[in-house]
Amino acid sequence: MTLQSINPTTGELFATYEEWSTEQAQDVVCKVHQDYVAWHRTGFDRRASLMRNAAGILSDNAREYAKLMAEEMGKPFLDGIAEAEKCAKACEYFAENAETFLSRQPVWTDARKTFVAFNPLGVVLAIMPWNFPFWQVFRFAAPSLMAGNAALLKHASNVPGCALAIEKIFRDAGFPENLFRTLMIASKQVDALIEHPLVRAVTLTGSGAAGRAVASKAGAVLKKTVLELGGSDPYLILEDADPHSAAAICARGRLVNSGQSCIAAKRFIVVEEARPAFEKRFVELMSKAKMGDPFEGGTEIGPLARHDLRDTLHRQVVASVGMGARLLLGGTVPNHPGAYYPATVLTDVGKGMPAYEEELFGPVAAIIPAKSEAEAIAIANDTPFGLGGAVITRDLPRGERIAEFEIESGMVFVNENVRSDPRVPFGGIKESGYGRELSSYGIKEFVNIKTVMVY
Ligand code: NAP
Repeated sequence: MTLQSINPTTGELFATYEEWSTEQAQDVVCKVHQDYVAWHRTGFDRRASLMRNAAGILSDNAREYAKLMAEEMGKPFLDGIAEAEKCAKACEYFAENAETFLSRQPVWTDARKTFVAFNPLGVVLAIMPWNFPFWQVFRFAAPSLMAGNAALLKHASNVPGCALAIEKIFRDAGFPENLFRTLMIASKQVDALIEHPLVRAVTLTGSGAAGRAVASKAGAVLKKTVLELGGSDPYLILEDADPHSAAAICARGRLVNSGQSCIAAKRFIVVEEARPAFEKRFVELMSKAKMGDPFEGGTEIGPLARHDLRDTLHRQVVASVGMGARLLLGGTVPNHPGAYYPATVLTDVGKGMPAYEEELFGPVAAIIPAKSEAEAIAIANDTPFGLGGAVITRDLPRGERIAEFEIESGMVFVNENVRSDPRVPFGGIKESGYGRELSSYGIKEFVNIKTVMVY
């Protein structure tokens, strides 16, 4: 069996990698654990210095990594450079802050001394998706390694080149040889690794189906999990919103990573009074987004990562139109090679339609009309997902109130599209998963929060 890199721009297979046996992978778990034993006693200064080396390697080679992302999953080249730079910033951030986040916390009790300590857990297995093939990994790895853990990466099977490049970054940065290892395995081999006694915790970023499978297995052997799953983020455009800036925020939010982002804007819930002006400007902006070769300057929408994903998206559009949605833009599969799908806008989307109920993982926007703020909030929460969301209004206290108290999700932005930032926690509720990444919260997911009382 092999893992294959297929260029979604051309459909051509350009690299193959031998898939490992489960025994090979289990041998590597033992090696990673051996390096963990020494690593978890290193000081923060040493860890930070190596993490800063990793940041330097990411910045110095951003173009090389961007090329790999473009070839393996179709990401526009400039977006790939930005992704590598973002990883570098996260490495710097956790190099700078991990010690503060994890320093012991004193507590006043009747004991002579009481404090809370944060010990690493050990070897953490990370199962990652292809859509941000570097960022998803680094936002787990930078805090986890700084906390003193070791890591095993099972990356998505369509980005094996990225997976190996990431392993090399940590090695070249001077981390112990086996502290971060990429496993060249298929998803059916993951169960055996979760069962391995030296694997202490599991994190998965991906679909709900994968999350359920991994959480069930981890639950059966009582191992901690963090799940970052899908989303169908609602953007509420209230009647007082400026239609031009609302449309710009929404188009930017929808087209991030050619629409293939868990926190992309997906459902646009527009209060009726704002709808005509918003729709007009939004369609204008969506139609201007250039679709093309990821290596061509100005490309905003590359091919989707795989042909089957493009076909699923198109089926969702066709079924929604069949149920009464109106197509304002796009909606046809281009007649040329590559897994392309054009910027598409559906309006009059309603309950029961795939565009209302399911995640649309590509550049397809679903406009859902609402009569009032209250109805817009009810529609926003009428979903199994709870990852991100946005409120667009000129009235900031109103936006803040809706964001804080009304929207059922892990992250809500007022007058901007949702994005991850190392300084603030990232994660969802409901079927979007549980646990948090990034910030002082994320780094504590894979530590033993230990109480020490001295009498
Ligand atoms: P996916 O099919 O679930 O794959 C994600 C990872 O899980 C891959 O490494 C995959 O390996 C593995 N996997 C799949 N089924 C598995 C199983 N039964 N047991 C163990 N591992 C399994 O998801 P995707 O298509 O790559 O990514 C798209 C989804 O991820 C979307 O729903 C998106 O919203 C979500 N996502 C969420 C976040 C977030 O932070 N919340 C971020 C990005 C993406 P193979 O490739 O070998 O199958």
